[in-house]
Order: sequence, then structure tokens, then C-alpha cells
Amino acid sequence: MSRIFNFAAGPAVLPDSVLERIRDDLPDWQGRGMSVMEVSHRGKDFVEVAERAEQSFRRLLGIPAGYKVLFMQGGATAQFAAVPLNLAGVGDTACFLNTGQWSIKAIAEARRYVEVEVLTDEQASNYTTVPEATSIKVPGGAAYLHYTPNETIGGVEFPYVPNPGSALLVADMSSTILSRPIDVSQFALIYAGAQKNIGPSGLTVVVVREDLLGRARKLTPTVLDYAAMASAGSMPNTPPTFAWYVAGLVFDWIEAGGGLEAMGQRNAAKAGMLYDYLDTSGFYANPVHPGCRSWMNVPFTLHRSELDKQFLLESRTAGLANLEGHRSVGGMRASLYNAMPVEGVKALIEFMQDFAQRHG
Ligand SMILES: *Cc1c(COP(=O)(O)O)cnc(C)c1O
Repeated sequence: MSRIFNFAAGPAVLPDSVLERIRDDLPDWQGRGMSVMEVSHRGKDFVEVAERAEQSFRRLLGIPAGYKVLFMQGGATAQFAAVPLNLAGVGDTACFLNTGQWSIKAIAEARRYVEVEVLTDEQASNYTTVPEATSIKVPGGAAYLHYTPNETIGGVEFPYVPNPGSALLVADMSSTILSRPIDVSQFALIYAGAQKNIGPSGLTVVVVREDLLGRARKLTPTVLDYAAMASAGSMPNTPPTFAWYVAGLVFDWIEAGGGLEAMGQRNAAKAGMLYDYLDTSGFYANPVHPGCRSWMNVPFTLHRSELDKQFLLESRTAGLANLEGHRSVGGMRASLYNAMPVEGVKALIEFMQDFAQRHG
């Protein structure tokens, strides 16, 4: 294989060993003479894959009893609607913390279904920080507090879990799930699109407290109704079987690598190396406040932005792909998900040093 280091924000890098396993499995999965994509989702073989994936996901996150794990479709974006449809009645209030582009999208979609109250908004900092923990005051009677623990575009990550008061706490963990251990019991609901840290796109994982099932509004589509999904084992219809299978392989890979404790240490080290270099380079900069810099998505700019195109061209030639920043922010962004090896980050820093020397 001639693999490059892929810094894409999502769909994103998968572990080499997982890709090799998929390649080997593909034409003749488990001696069945067909691929996993070609078997019934209701057959014993696939149901086993699905259940195994859920069990290892539960072990990884230490999900306590009393939570359902759902494998859904429609991406995190479908959850922007599913959450209010399931957790709030017409006229109820839902509170949001606005820390960037994905918060903004979640808020816009929620406005179609609930009264939205934006408690904090970091726009004045150009979304380079998170609110003070003590500034978050959720009014009594609010149905839930929604936040985005890691803003994939801005590269801003909460260093704490907000206090929702008497409301339910809901988190869009699309770009941070499985990056380190978390205490699931603090959350009423967690959701994550798979294509960052879990597997291929097309799958969305939802962790929801069981006592919240059965409250969906009548008009909620079945595939977005958590109770209906749970009672059908996430299969009221055909699920994205291939993505589910790959997610299971990724979970196995994380467990074999020491679980979330080990992932967290590795991710902290990877991000730390890159931020240290950015801060001392004199040639590049990261705009995010040091206390809330993302381990997963590192945006950075060149002091001489006229060199952006050259940087992208040369980095690609050096085997470093997809470093272009999001169109709404510009500059560069290096995403350092679980599957990005330490060697990839070292190669990126070496390239950046060399580029700075030649153009500084
Ligand atoms: C990628 C991403 C989304 C959107 O996910 P889709 O699966 O494309 O709907 C939402 N929130 C966050 C934090 C993301 O990183």
C-alpha cells in the first residue's frame, strides 16, 4: 500500500490495519463466499456483527446500565432535528451554547421545533473560545441544554462538562467521541456522526438514557424516534451494514490499543506537539485560546497568507493530504483523529519547519 498521511476533517483517516482487514474480508467474508455488504441485516451473521460492535462500544465508553445505544442514519445533522422531536414538546424551551459553526447549525435546525434560548455565544471572539463554566445558567423549566464539546471547524474544545441544572444535557460529540475517556452518566444524550472517529459516513451513534424513550412527538419519523429505534434493535429498516461492520473493526482496534485511556494519552501528545510548534514557530499561528484548544482539529494560519496555495501544493507532494482549512475560516487545518499516527504529526511538523525555513 502507498498510503499518505490524511489530515481530513471528515470523512477521515481509518487505521491501516482496519483497511487491510476489510480488504482481506471483502470478497469472501468469514468463508461465506460473499462480502458483508451482501448479506441480510436480519441474518444471524450480521446481527452478530451488530451486537458485537455495540458491546465493544459500550465497554470502550464504560456506558452504565440504563442507557440505549442506537445506530442511526442521517448523520449528526438528522440528530439536530431528532433531539428536539424526542426531548421537547411544542412550545418548550431548549438552551444552547454557541461555540461555532456546528452549534450554529444545530441551533438553526432546532428553531424549527422548539423555542431556542442561546445562553452563551462566543461570536465576539470569532469563536476562538468557550464560555466560563460559571457563566452558564440554565433557566428552570428548560427541556435540555445542547452543546458541541468539540467544534470541528473552529478547533475549539470544552475542557469541562457544562452544568445543565435541572435540564437534560445533550452533546454533539461527532468529532471528539472516543478520543479520551468520558463519564457518560453526566449526559442524557450523546450523538456522533461516524465519519470522524468511528468509521465510514452513513452511520450515527446515539447514546440515550432509557427513561427518555417514548416521549417523541407523534409526527416524528420512525427512523428518528429513539423508542422505535431501540425496540427494533436499530433496525426498523435496513441499516448501513457496511459502515456498522467497519465501526466494529475500529472499536476492536481501539480496544487492542489500550482503550480510551491510551487513546487520550496519545491524542494529548499528538496535539501538544503540534501546538508547541505552532506557538514557537514565528511563521504559523493558531487562534484558539490555549485553555480550549481541540485535540482533534487544529486550525492554523501562515503569517504570509499569500503562501497558502504553495503550502498546500508542497505538503501534498510531501505525502500530507487535506490540510486546507474550512472554507468559512480559511488557512489550514490538521485533523488528528485517533487513527492519525504520531508519525503523521511528526512528518507534518518537519514539513512545516522546512517550509518556514525556505520561505521565512
Ligand atoms: C461533522 C459534524 C457534524 C455533521 O455531521 P453529518 O454526519 O455530516 O451530519 C455535526 N457536528 C459536528 C461537531 C461535526 O463534526
